[in-house]
Amino acid sequence: MGKDENLNQAKKDTKWKKEHKVSGPVKHEPLFNINPQQFRFSLWFFIVTFIMLIMMNSYFQQLKPQEQTVSYSVFKQKIESGEIRKVRMTDKYYFGTTNTPVSDTNAAPLVYETVPVNDPDFIRLLDKKGVEYSAVIQQDPVLMNLIVGWILPFAFIYIIWKLMAKKMGGAGMGVMNFGRNKSMIVAETDTGVRFEDVAGAEESKEELMEVVDFLENPEKYTEIGGKIPKGVLLVGPPGTGKTLLARAVAGEAKVPFFRMSGADFVEMFVGVGAARVRDLFRQAREKSPCIIFIDELDAIGKSRINIAGGNDEREQTLNQLLVEMDGFDSTTGVIILGATNRPEILDPALMRPGRFDRQVVMDRPDLEGREAILKIHSKNVKLADDVDLNAIARATVGFVGADLANIINEAALLAVRAGRQEVLQEDLSEAIEKTVAGLQKKSRLINPKERKIVAYHETGHALTAAFTGGTDPVQKITIIPRGIGALGYTLQTPTEDRFLMSQDDLLGKIDVLLGGRAAEQIIFNEISTGAANDLTRATDLVRSMITEYGMSEKFKNMVLSKRGNQFLSGAAAPPRMEKEYSEATQQYVDEEIARILDERYKRVLDLLTEKKPQLESISKKLLEVETLEAEEFYAMAGVKRDV
Ligand code: ADP
Ligand code: ZN
Ligand code: MG
Repeated sequence: MGKDENLNQAKKDTKWKKEHKVSGPVKHEPLFNINPQQFRFSLWFFIVTFIMLIMMNSYFQQLKPQEQTVSYSVFKQKIESGEIRKVRMTDKYYFGTTNTPVSDTNAAPLVYETVPVNDPDFIRLLDKKGVEYSAVIQQDPVLMNLIVGWILPFAFIYIIWKLMAKKMGGAGMGVMNFGRNKSMIVAETDTGVRFEDVAGAEESKEELMEVVDFLENPEKYTEIGGKIPKGVLLVGPPGTGKTLLARAVAGEAKVPFFRMSGADFVEMFVGVGAARVRDLFRQAREKSPCIIFIDELDAIGKSRINIAGGNDEREQTLNQLLVEMDGFDSTTGVIILGATNRPEILDPALMRPGRFDRQVVMDRPDLEGREAILKIHSKNVKLADDVDLNAIARATVGFVGADLANIINEAALLAVRAGRQEVLQEDLSEAIEKTVAGLQKKSRLINPKERKIVAYHETGHALTAAFTGGTDPVQKITIIPRGIGALGYTLQTPTEDRFLMSQDDLLGKIDVLLGGRAAEQIIFNEISTGAANDLTRATDLVRSMITEYGMSEKFKNMVLSKRGNQFLSGAAAPPRMEKEYSEATQQYVDEEIARILDERYKRVLDLLTEKKPQLESISKKLLEVETLEAEEFYAMAGVKRDV
């Protein structure tokens, strides 16, 4: 169950074709693009509300009581005479309100206004006359009128308009910002995340350590002319902590963090996305050193080749991104991080040198990693003494960080619901069950039986490699599911660059590929579909031996087919073979393939049957620890390696 190498080669070969299309300047691209309809709507909206506000304010003006300024002595007389029935005192004015004349009920009451003098008898007078009085702190009536009558309603209406504009596709805001959406691109000055908050990704962290170091002391690198990556792409399944790690890099380096999601760039109106990219980079340059993080890069970075018709807006945005990335050198101190869970659909132009030329893989965490993640997330949760996080980690093969964080959270909720003060092991178990049910729907997890098959299968590959001459040494075996399709894998590293392979080398390679299925047959006495990819590759190798390398009994040194022109066969398609032989030969080739495969398979079966004790012990160990490094594997296999 390995990876496809042909794909890489084919990609490389077609790369140059695509490259010529990217680097040129962007042809047509409006500076800012607001829908004229939106503009007219907004204009009318504001005119109408303005007129309404004028009318409203003048109406309230009418309702207000008439005021008449009088001298203090007159004011006192009017109290004496009983005309004023109510007095409101501020530090600057006294206001005396009269009773409404009975004859005219519609008229507002008359208010006398006066500037007070220091008069100790005043209150006594009020009491004597039974006048209702109160003291208030003076507020500027003009300012109050302005706030209540104009500013508040305007703010309210502006909010309504903004909400409406957002509903209409966000472009309404462009009226005010002229295509520059300031509100969306804001740098976080400190993300507050550190490397220690990301667990189970030691290798990825190490790779990013260099980026942090560069952001902290750029001189160290620029002085000796060292080259710093401009862009680093974080690749991995959803929930493995890519976003978290990007924020940790910014947090460790203590630099501003500009985050945008690929989806944010893709707008309804052509040109807005490109303008945002330009704006983002301009702001970043001003704030350097800093980090630009483009999350979900695939939303804009989809390969332009595979899309029929294309999407003008996205293409322009992608072009702008490429232009911007080319437009500065890394000495400016801006580093671009990208994240995606679908690297295979990204436009190859993004991966060219000077762009995202480095990739950091965020894999599903292994046992140790899972335990560490559980620890981080349970830091602020009260766990009972009997809680065994290691057991939880064992029960959560294939879970990503986000799932594990979710489990802790879910368990805490269960404990609260049960009215307990701390989280018990059973809460955690129940939380796992819940999560598993959810994940199984997404068919991301494998059941224990499958897991066992995968362990024996991978051990089969590895053991065959260990006991077959001419094969690359085993570097790592793992049963942690990775990517789409592969349930586990055995990693072999070539000892040296090899351009030539002998017949024995080829046969060894075929044997290793067959080792997975052979192990399944020996242990379970049945075979599974898990070996499909292995068998395809083994078959292809045998066919090449016969038809291309002239290694068959009958057609010694004769080439039966030539590789077709790769540039004609499209990006990811395997090279087309041009047959140059008859039907009869075809039959011979097919039979010969079957014969060789059968012969090799028998050999591998014999080998693994002989090594069954190792097959058992290594598989069991693998089921327990999930990943075996080279040292341990070779020790258990009983093979001495001369390094
Ligand atoms: P991605 O961007 O890869 O989809 P996120 O970074 O958004 O994943 O992860 C979601 C959440 O899951 C994080 O906020 C964090 O709480 C948790 N998480 C994921 N991976 C890890 C990890 N390696 N260590 C600690 N927490 C993690
Ligand atoms: Zn396999
Ligand atoms: Mg993310």
